[in-house]
Amino acid sequence: MAEHGHIFAAMLQEFDLAARILKLEPGIWRILTHPKRQIIVSCPVQMDNGEIEVFTGYRVQYNITLGPAKGGIRFHPDVSLDEVTALAAWMTWKCAVAHIPFGGGKGGIVCDPTRMSKRELEALTRRYVAEIIDAIGPEKDVPAPDVNTNEQVMAWIMDTYSMHVGHTSTAVVTGKPIELGGSLGRREATGRGVMIVTREAARHLGLNITGARVAVQGFGNVGSVSAALLGEIGAKIVAVTDWKGGVYNEKGLDVATLLEYARAKKTVDEFPGGTALSNEDLWGLDVDVLIPAALENQITMDNAPAIKARIVTEGANGPTTPDAHKHLHERGVFVIPDILANSGGVTVSYFEWVQDRYGYFWEEDEVNTRLEKKMIEAFDDVLQTSLKYTVDLRTAAYIVAISRVGTVTRMRGMYA
Ligand code: GLU
Repeated sequence: MAEHGHIFAAMLQEFDLAARILKLEPGIWRILTHPKRQIIVSCPVQMDNGEIEVFTGYRVQYNITLGPAKGGIRFHPDVSLDEVTALAAWMTWKCAVAHIPFGGGKGGIVCDPTRMSKRELEALTRRYVAEIIDAIGPEKDVPAPDVNTNEQVMAWIMDTYSMHVGHTSTAVVTGKPIELGGSLGRREATGRGVMIVTREAARHLGLNITGARVAVQGFGNVGSVSAALLGEIGAKIVAVTDWKGGVYNEKGLDVATLLEYARAKKTVDEFPGGTALSNEDLWGLDVDVLIPAALENQITMDNAPAIKARIVTEGANGPTTPDAHKHLHERGVFVIPDILANSGGVTVSYFEWVQDRYGYFWEEDEVNTRLEKKMIEAFDDVLQTSLKYTVDLRTAAYIVAISRVGTVTRMRGMYA
């Protein structure tokens, strides 16, 4: 196994807390803390200026005990094998918590998509898919969108794979455009799931969601939809920040106008509907709900002591470091962990995969109703487990996940 860095180490720290409580046997412990398969590829691309650049891509299949590997592909300059492996592990636990028949995978390409043309992105995507072609497929490994990838990128993945196998294969990837086998409701699914668990948590804590003040870090697919849907159920979105800056309005931001603004300007910075707010100042705001919906390692011991929110809903993967999480839990902050909070996306990815394999597509209402049911079940499983073992929700979610993957690992037995 390749050397791991701090992100995978953080995942292991979280895992160990739960495995210890479960008194997990050493053999299963060892299996579940090793990635099944790590693929590293070099992707040469002819850039628009005629030069050939070589991009590094990764695909990690962390665990495929419950089914095909499942997880997104991100395009970002900071992508590393450490990060992709940790994210693939988190996908494994997330799918188990969501109770869907998938293992966990993740992919990434080290690149800065903001500096690339559409043609360059298409060439890079297709070359990456060609390089990992043997490892993916509807029964093997099913990619999806993640940071800086979207429906268009999924369409290129679907087409490249289909060209290689010689027939149209829609179920090889999820998060596709509706026209080519995507599911209604998939684009909004992660944010919808964030809204549902936040609402359930508020109900559990006796906090009125109507008028509850919400601050969101990140205004991509997850942050923007979470804000819009929480606004729809009566919460007041008072602050939003992104990579560039942010905006605050104690009376509540007009999320629909903010969405239009962000679409045009590619940032929420300098939005005229409030006062300027920095990413650092977001954490200490006097709010009820805080939603980190950007990248890993955002809530650290540098800012956790300032957090005043009652609920932290992790829209992003791995946004809170283990020590900051411990600190928040000890102060009574109700942290809804990533592997539960943002599982709405992969849950509707599962629905998309099912619809593709059936060749029969559901109405949006049916997707949303099924998602609602799955999210509430997952939230209740984790909450009940946390009450049973007197642990925080993250450890409880790991207990649920490790129990499910561990049981199947034991039943299937060892293949020597
Ligand atoms: N990238 C999303 C996640 O981190 C979605 C994965 C999927 O739908 O496969 O959960």
